[in-house]
Amino acid sequence: MAETTLNGGCHCGAVQVRLDPGKPVGELALRACQCGFCRRQGARTTSDPDSRLTIAAGPDALHRYRFGRKAVDFLICRACGCYVAAMIEDGGAAWATLNVVGTDLPGFEGRVPERLDYHDETDEQRLARRKAKWTPTRLVDAVPNA
Ligand SMILES: [Zn+2]
Repeated sequence: MAETTLNGGCHCGAVQVRLDPGKPVGELALRACQCGFCRRQGARTTSDPDSRLTIAAGPDALHRYRFGRKAVDFLICRACGCYVAAMIEDGGAAWATLNVVGTDLPGFEGRVPERLDYHDETDEQRLARRKAKWTPTRLVDAVPNA
């Protein structure tokens, strides 16, 4: 049986997200990444290789913030500033870890996040981990409120 689709979005609505979970929502990871960016944002993220994520955003709705090794795009709504997701792209495919706080995604209320610190990883370890653990993602153009 398919799990319930979870819908969320940024504060202003210019960016919409849809997570089709590959398992019950209560079994999806909830993480508190300890990097400087995620700590400042208070981000709580989820990702799952068996789930599918769709991010719909209008033209120029997303700012792609990069820092450090610049391997990841942190997708931020240009209008309202919400941090939506971190995404990597490789060979025409994309994977993301979704910020359930910035998108007000339902289903994670009351959960205690797992605190994770990845700063000892090499670039190769980091890419391999992201491809293995992040959610296959489609970024689609959308007209807000259409
Ligand atoms: Zn917004």
